[in-house]
Amino acid sequence: MKVDLPMDILRACGSCNYCRDFCPMYREIGSELDSPGGKLRALRAYAEKMYSKPPQELLDKLFCADCRRCENICPAGVPVTSYWHDAKATLLKTGGTRSEGLEKVLDWLQKEGTPFVGYEAEERTLWAEDLELPAESNTAIFSGCMGSYWYPDQPEMVVDMMRKLKIKVGYIPSEVCCGLMNYWAGDDTGFESIIRKNYEMFKKAGVDHIITGCGGCYGTLAEHYPHVIKNFDIQIHHTVEVLADMVENGVLTFKGLEGRYTFHDSCHLGRALGIYDAPREIIAAIPDLEFVEMQNNREDSNCCGGFVTVVDPDLSESIGKKRVQEALETGADGLITTCVSCYKNLSYCARGTDLEVIQLDELILNLAQSSLVEE
Ligand code: SF4
Ligand code: SF4
Repeated sequence: MKVDLPMDILRACGSCNYCRDFCPMYREIGSELDSPGGKLRALRAYAEKMYSKPPQELLDKLFCADCRRCENICPAGVPVTSYWHDAKATLLKTGGTRSEGLEKVLDWLQKEGTPFVGYEAEERTLWAEDLELPAESNTAIFSGCMGSYWYPDQPEMVVDMMRKLKIKVGYIPSEVCCGLMNYWAGDDTGFESIIRKNYEMFKKAGVDHIITGCGGCYGTLAEHYPHVIKNFDIQIHHTVEVLADMVENGVLTFKGLEGRYTFHDSCHLGRALGIYDAPREIIAAIPDLEFVEMQNNREDSNCCGGFVTVVDPDLSESIGKKRVQEALETGADGLITTCVSCYKNLSYCARGTDLEVIQLDELILNLAQSSLVEE
C-alpha cells in the first residue's frame, strides 16, 4: 500500500529532540511517542516500511494540543503542526480510526453545525435575540460556538463595544461552526463543506468584513478559508486588532484600573497569526494598570491546553494549571486572555486560586471612554 506522506518533510527532521521539552503533551505524559520528534520518526518508519495498517497508537498521538510550539522552535524549520493535519487525514484514509467520542462530535457537527454535543442549531442565535442585529450587513460578527452556546456574554460584549464606537455590525444567523474541529480531526471533507457553507452565507448577506472575539475562529477563518475559497475576498478581524487601531488613533481611551495584570497569548492568535502587539498596546493604554509578562510569552507562550479537553480532560487540566501557575508566579491579580477557548480552560484551572481570569473584551467594555463612547 502506498502511503501519501511527504518524505522530504519527514527527512528534514534531524531528530535533535530540541522540540521535546517544549511540547505540553510530552511534558505531561513523558512518552517518546508524545514528543513531536518521536511522532515524526514513527511516521517516517511507517511511511518507509508501509505496514499494512497504520499504527493506531501513533494516529491517536497526532490529536495533540495543536499549540505549534514545536514548529516555532524547530531549528530545521519542519512545519510540524500542518504535517500533523496531513498525516491524520492520510492515516484515516488508510485504515486508521478516530476515537468513538471524536466521531460522535463530528457527527453532531455535521447535523447541528456545532461540536458541542447536545446543543442544537436553533439555539445558536439565542444570544442575539434581543439585540436587533441586521441579518445583512457589510460587517458581521462571527460569534463562534463558544460565544454562541457557552459564553454568550462574549459576542454580546463585542456588539456593545462596536455600537459604543459607532461601528455598524450585523449578525448572520445561518452561521455554523468555523470548522476548526474538523480541521484538527483530519476531516477534510467536513471542513471543506463547512467553509463553503459559511462563505456562501457571508456572500449572500453582503459581508465584506468579519469581526470575531474568538482566537480559534479568527485563526481558522483567516488562515484556512483562503486555501479552500480561491480569491477569498472577506477581511477577517479580531476585536483586538480593531480596538488597538482605535487606541492608536486616540479614539478609544480608558478609565484607570489599579492592579497587576499579566497576559496569555492564545496559540491561534499568536504563533499561528503573529498577533502579539495589539493586545499589549490596548493593555498599555489602561491608566494605573501594572502590566507584567509571564516568563514564557509571545512566541514562547505556553499553551492553555484547551483543545486537549476533547481527547483527555484531565490532561487538559494539568496543562492549564501549569499556565495558571506561571501567571501566579508573576504576582499578578489578573490574567487577561483574548480567546474565549483559552478563557474557558484557564478560568476553570484557576478555580481555588486568587487569580482572576478576564477577557480583554470585558476589560475594554468596562473601562472604555471616548468621544464616541456613550457613557
Ligand atoms: S521537529 Fe525539529 S526540533 Fe523536533 S526533533 Fe525534528 S528537527 Fe528537532
Ligand atoms: S503542536 Fe504542541 S502539543 Fe502538538 S506536538 Fe507540537 S508542541 Fe506538542
